[in-house]
Amino acid sequence: MGRVGRSLTRARVLARFALTAQRHRFHRQQSPDGVRLCDETRRADNPYFMKISVPTETAPREQRVALAPDSVARLIKQLKLEITVQRGAGLRAGFRDDAYESAGATMVGDAASAFDCPVVAKVQPPTADEIGRIPSGATLISLMRPGQSADAVSALAQRRVTSLALELVPRITRAQSMDVLSSQSTVSGYKAVLIGASALGKFLPMLTTAAGNISPAKVFVIGAGVAGLQAIATARRLGGVVSGFDVRPAAREQVLSLGATFVANDLVSETAEAAGGYARAQTQDEQARTLAAIGNHIKDQDLVVTTAAIPGKPAPKLITDEMVASMRAGSVIVDLAAETGGNCTLAKPGETVQANDVTIIAPLNVPSTVAFHASQMFGRNIFELLKHLVKDGALQLDQNDEITGAMMMTHDGKVLRS
Ligand code: NAD
Repeated sequence: MGRVGRSLTRARVLARFALTAQRHRFHRQQSPDGVRLCDETRRADNPYFMKISVPTETAPREQRVALAPDSVARLIKQLKLEITVQRGAGLRAGFRDDAYESAGATMVGDAASAFDCPVVAKVQPPTADEIGRIPSGATLISLMRPGQSADAVSALAQRRVTSLALELVPRITRAQSMDVLSSQSTVSGYKAVLIGASALGKFLPMLTTAAGNISPAKVFVIGAGVAGLQAIATARRLGGVVSGFDVRPAAREQVLSLGATFVANDLVSETAEAAGGYARAQTQDEQARTLAAIGNHIKDQDLVVTTAAIPGKPAPKLITDEMVASMRAGSVIVDLAAETGGNCTLAKPGETVQANDVTIIAPLNVPSTVAFHASQMFGRNIFELLKHLVKDGALQLDQNDEITGAMMMTHDGKVLRS
C-alpha cells in the first residue's frame, strides 16, 4: 500500500474510533435554544443515543423510585432513550431488577455509575453527595423543594447541572399529565382515609347484622383540592357519610358531584382562587368565620381528614385545641397538611398524638407508603415530561418554553430560582 493509501486507512480507523468513543461518552453541544445532548452523527449511528439514569433513593422513609418498569419500557420504545437503573432501586416499591431488565433497562451496581449520566431522574431532592456525582452539564429531573433548597440549588449551579423541579410544573391543562403534585396528592388522599379508618374504633359503612344495626361513620374532609377530593371519593366508597369544605367555588361543585355534602356555602368566595387554581390566604375576618363554621360541624364527626394548603406558606390552622376538645371520644384526625406545619394546632408532623381522647395523626411522605402505584404515577409523569422535552431525539431545554422555563431552577451555571 502506498503512502496515500496508508494515511487513508489510518484516517478511516481514527474516524471509526472517534465515533465509537462518542457513543460511550456524554456528548454535549450548545444550541441557541438550549443544550442538546446528542449530535446527529451519534443519532444516526445509534438509535439509543440519549441516556437517563434512575438511582436508588436514599432519603429516610422514601420507598418510591422515579421510573417504574412500565415507564422505562415506554421511554425506550417511544422516545428511543437508553435507561440505566441502579440495582435494587425499585425493590422497596415492588419492582425487581428483572422487571427493569425485561423492560430494556441496563442495570448498574453502584450509585457512582447510576449518577454518571446526562439525565438523572430522581424522586427526592439530591443530597450534597449525590450532587457531587452528577456530571457537569447534565440535567436533573426531581422534586427540589423550591424555597427550602438554597444550598443544593447553588451547588447544582456551580456544577453547571440544569435542574428541573417537578413541583414547578405549571398548572395548565397541557401539563396536567406531567404534574407529580397531582398524582402524588391522589395517593395521599386515598391513603389518609385508610389510615384514619384503621385508627377509628368504628366501621365506616352502615351494617345490618344479626348483632344489630351499625350506623355509618361521619367523615369530614377539609380542603377539597386533589388530595381532598380523592379522600372524599374513598370515604364514600367505604360507606361513610361524607361532608367537605373548601374556600374555592370550583371545589364546592366537585365536592357535591362526588355525593358529599358541603359545609358552609356562604364561606366560598369567587376571589378565593389565586393563580394556577390554588387558594389565596384568607383575610382575618374570613378565617374567623371559617373557624366558627368548622367548629360547629366538627363536634359531630368521627373521622376528619385535613388537606388545606396555601402554596409557599404554612398550612392554615383550621382545627384549634378547643375544637379538638369538643370532638367525640375516639374520633380521629388525619392531618395531611403536616408537611407544611399541619391544619390542626395539636398536630405534630410525623407523629400520632392523643388529646382529649381524640387521635391526631400527622403523617409525612404518605405517597411513599403506597410506593408501587405512587412510583408508577410518578414515572408516567416523568415520561410525559420527557415527551415534551425530547425533540428529534435530543433534550431541548428551552428557557422560554412555558413548561420547561417554569421548572428550571438552575441552568448554564446560574441559579434561576431557589
Ligand atoms: P393545595 O394542595 O394547594 O390545597 C388543597 C386545598 O386546600 C385547595 O383546594 C385549597 O382551595 C384548599 N384551602 C386552602 N385554604 C383553605 C382554607 N382556609 N379552608 C379550606 N380549604 C382551604 O391544592 P391542590 O390540591 O394541589 O390543587 C388546587 C387546585 O388546582 C385543584 O382544585 C385543581 O383543580 C387545580 N389543579 C390544576 C392542575 C392543572 O390544571 N394542571 C393540576 C393540579 C391541580
